[in-house]
Formats: sequence, structure tokens, C-alpha cells
Amino acid sequence: VDGEYLRVRAGAVGPNLYAVFLSDITEQRRFASMRRDFVTNVSHELKTPAGAISLLAETISDASDDATAVRYFAQRIIKESQRLTQLVHRLIDLQRVQDPQVVRNPEVLDVVALARDAIGMNLTLAQTGGVGLLLDLEGRRIADGDVVAHGPSVRADRTSLTTALKNLIENAIRYSPDRTAVTIDVRSRGERALIRVIDRGEGIPKEALGRIFERFYRVDEARSRATGGSGLGLAIAKHGVEECGGTLSVWSHEGLGSTFTVSLPLVAGDDRQGADAVGGG
Ligand code: ADP
Repeated sequence: VDGEYLRVRAGAVGPNLYAVFLSDITEQRRFASMRRDFVTNVSHELKTPAGAISLLAETISDASDDATAVRYFAQRIIKESQRLTQLVHRLIDLQRVQDPQVVRNPEVLDVVALARDAIGMNLTLAQTGGVGLLLDLEGRRIADGDVVAHGPSVRADRTSLTTALKNLIENAIRYSPDRTAVTIDVRSRGERALIRVIDRGEGIPKEALGRIFERFYRVDEARSRATGGSGLGLAIAKHGVEECGGTLSVWSHEGLGSTFTVSLPLVAGDDRQGADAVGGG
């Protein structure tokens, strides 16, 4: 037994007979420590907006004669409550993709339809940020109104994959300056379907690239918070994609932008028809 942490148990098992049991509890210790870190992080994330709300509410009650001040502080309370709600939703998403007990429902899905759904979920954010959203299929632009275009098919859990794409597109918008565009590029290559979310934003420093998929890791804490980030979007995306049998990778260069690539096994034409018929019937 060569673990870092060993549990030793010894006792008599018979007359003049003693036994020593050694068990390797390194993994257990690691999980316990990860769980503690997670709880500490969550508490910190919840405490910040909750504390701000309470302070702002106190300020309002002191300034109740001044309508402008009341309106200003009320707006800030709304913002902080939205942050709390967003964090809770993200925690639920994270729990869902990490919990093996959650029932998955793998079905054959059209990647272009999924990309459209994820784009739709980000339309307001893109409009507010002045960022354009473009969808390309096999190198050709798909117009907004074109509902007949079909892309490659994959077998995946719809909720997990849509959530992953939604988070990647949301980040691409949040970390891009206005008047730039985010492209969602769908194509099949060999046996894989590739979905790339490409932005021309600020990019990610090289030394941070290995850590961005960790829960609560942010390159720039203040920037992430200011744009409504929870530090969980990429962890959720990665777990979600991997749970569907795919991979999520990143290319990024500071000042040039970032490309996140989801790669999933392609469903062959025959399987696709069979599965569609089962699904439809
Ligand atoms: P957050 O809610 O902070 O965006 P994420 O888990 O989604 O958390 O991302 C982790 C960190 O990775 C972010 O804080 C940001 O620094 C960086 N990041 C993610 N996506 C992008 C992107 N498209 N462009 C630049 N930086 C990004």
C-alpha cells in the first residue's frame, strides 16, 4: 500500500493472533478536501450579494425621503438579487451534470438546431452588449430565417449539450467588445461533429488556459463579476460535453480572441434514421 494517507486498524482475531489492516484513504481525503473547498467557495459567492442586498436595503430605509436615492439603491438591489438567482441556477446546472444519479436521456440531435436554441437563449445579452451572433454550417453562413438547414447529428442529452453551448456563447459575448461578432461554426470532420464558438474578444492569458475549466476559477475576478459571471460556466460546459461522450477544448490568444471547440462522435446516416423513427413513433 503506497498511498499518501493510510488508515491502520489492528486487533486480535484469535488467541495469540493479531491482524493489521491497512487501507489507502488518499482518494477519500482528496474528495473530502475538494468538498470543503467547494462549500467555502459557494458560501463566499452567496455571502457577497446577500451582504450587499442587506446593506443597500438599510441605506434605502435611511434615505426613504429622497426618491432618486431610493430608486438608485433599489436598482442595485435588483442587480444583486439577479446575481444570486443566477448563481443558484448555475449550481443546479453543475449538480445536474456532475450527479451520476440524474437520469440522462441521450437522443439523436441535429447540431444546427441545438446551436440555434443556444443562440436564441443569448439574443438579449448579445443585443445589450452590441455583439453580433453568426451561424456557419460547413463554412457557409446560415441566415437567421433559414429553418431548413440541417447539420450533422450526434447522440447526446439535450439539456446538457444545450446548456454547454449556451454557456460558451454567453462567455464569448461577455468577453468581447461591442461591434464584434461571435461565430458558431458547425461542421463534420471525419467521424466527429465539431461545434466551435469563435470570438474576437480579449482572449485568455496562456498561463490561465489550464485552469479556466476549474470551478470558480476566473482570470480577472472583477471583470467576471462586473459582467455577471459566476465562475462556473466552463466547468458546467466541460462536464456536460464529456458526459455526452465528447470533448471540450480551447484555443486562445490574448488580444486576438478565443475559440472553444466541442467535439462529439457523429451519428451515421443509418443510425440517424432509425433513431429518428423510434423517437418520432
Ligand atoms: P465566468 O462566469 O467568470 O465567466 P467561466 O467558468 O464561464 O466563469 O469562465 C472562467 C474564466 O475563463 C472567466 O472568468 C474568464 O476569465 C475566462 N473566459 C471564459 N470564456 C472566455 C472567453 N470567451 N474569452 C475570454 N475569457 C474567457
